[in-house]
Amino acid sequence: MLSTLASLTVTALQAKLRAREVSPREALDALAARIDAVDGRLRGYLSTDLEYARRAAESADVTLPLGGVPIAVKDVVSVAGQPCGCASKILAGYRAPFDATAIARLRAAGAIPFGRTNMDEFAMGSSTENSAFQLTRNPWDLSRVPGGSSGGSAAVVAADTAFAALGTDTGGSIRQPAALCGCVGLKPSYGRVSRYGLVAFASSLDQIGPLTKTVADAALLLGVMAGRDPLDSTSLDAPVPDYAAAVRDFSIKGARIGLPKEYFVSGIDPQVEAAVRAAVAHYAKLGAEIVEVSLPHTEYAVAVYYIIATAEASANLARFDGVRYGHRAADTNGLLEHYGRTRAEGFGPEVKRRIILGTYVLSSGYYDAYYLRAQKVRTLMRQDFEKAFAQCDALICPTSPVPAFKLGERTADPLAMYLADIFTIAANLAGICGVSLPGGFAKAADDGDRELPIGVQLLGPAFAEEKLLGIAHAFEQTTDWHQRRPALG
Ligand code: GLN
Repeated sequence: MLSTLASLTVTALQAKLRAREVSPREALDALAARIDAVDGRLRGYLSTDLEYARRAAESADVTLPLGGVPIAVKDVVSVAGQPCGCASKILAGYRAPFDATAIARLRAAGAIPFGRTNMDEFAMGSSTENSAFQLTRNPWDLSRVPGGSSGGSAAVVAADTAFAALGTDTGGSIRQPAALCGCVGLKPSYGRVSRYGLVAFASSLDQIGPLTKTVADAALLLGVMAGRDPLDSTSLDAPVPDYAAAVRDFSIKGARIGLPKEYFVSGIDPQVEAAVRAAVAHYAKLGAEIVEVSLPHTEYAVAVYYIIATAEASANLARFDGVRYGHRAADTNGLLEHYGRTRAEGFGPEVKRRIILGTYVLSSGYYDAYYLRAQKVRTLMRQDFEKAFAQCDALICPTSPVPAFKLGERTADPLAMYLADIFTIAANLAGICGVSLPGGFAKAADDGDRELPIGVQLLGPAFAEEKLLGIAHAFEQTTDWHQRRPALG
């Protein structure tokens, strides 16, 4: 009973809570028991606050849209009173004094943010191995990575140690771990969800979004979090549709799905490519129209991203100076040494690499050659998407070129790690929305019996989440990939 309760989707749990078949306290206890049983091996959580969660569960109003539903939160989104360390030593001991707007909205809808999930330090990475604290393992194969940077959030959802989790996506960090762990990950359009209270990595790319067991759950959470926020001037003042209802009512017949030819190039694992092609065939069978489209500037995406994201990160991370919050170097002599030693001690190697790279591309001699040109190519990439979306409602492609890789396999080679995002980063550069959903399984090369999830990615125009989720839902409703659960071995 306990473990079956923990495996419910948010939608199913909410129905049971509302019907008073289950109390919020019982749901939380089932989840806590599951975490106890499994998280020692998985290590998806940095910390949990079950005491607070129990109190919140006792007084939860189950008539609210998420009344009594516990939610896990990536360690980069502020929850008042809880640690918000971005999996970095530099924020050791820091607790958020306020709620991010996304959290405030979830709480107002009755949700209970109870746990902090592991991540790559400051969301920089694709495997969660850059966490300063612990390795999170992939629930489908404990010798593999869960993806990143929201690897903790993906792992806990896939392992049924969370009903749903929040992640953040700057270049793929919701979608890629969702793909590697076999859950649904939604990156909303830039400006759809307030970034207030999200510790900034690259402010023009970052978005908060849900990792869930189903598309319907992603729609439910998005609907609660989305909308204009006076505390984030980049949040758009556009009406928030009832995503959950839109998803239910969507008809796939006649939807046009674009196949970007640049996304099917050499280097993709053949099993991943086969799964995506099978998904395309499935859509055709459901009555969608498949059109080939071109995104000619795709080849520049990784280079452009690692200029713009590092430039913004170098400016955003300047605030961690040992004066305001977190770690402070001991016994320093003067201000400069204080800054230098605090940052040398507090940041890990990947974060340092990016601060140096970002400072370099913004320096006066190189600004025009790198940063400015990257911004121009970014515009061309956005225009590519605009042209493609004139011909179709959504694009389909792989989320990640490969299934989950082994722990340690790519840590020595930052470039190999950066290529994990080759199919996800263009969406952030263009500000559009994207979702990864379970679309098949690959056999592991070194262990033929081992099955690893494959993610299919759908990309939609900015602020077209309704249709994007509708198209994703149509696939999910007619396939059963999302119903499989890992054996946790
Ligand atoms: N993996 C990418 C990076 O390392 C994307 C990270 C993210 O989306 N936060 O920057």
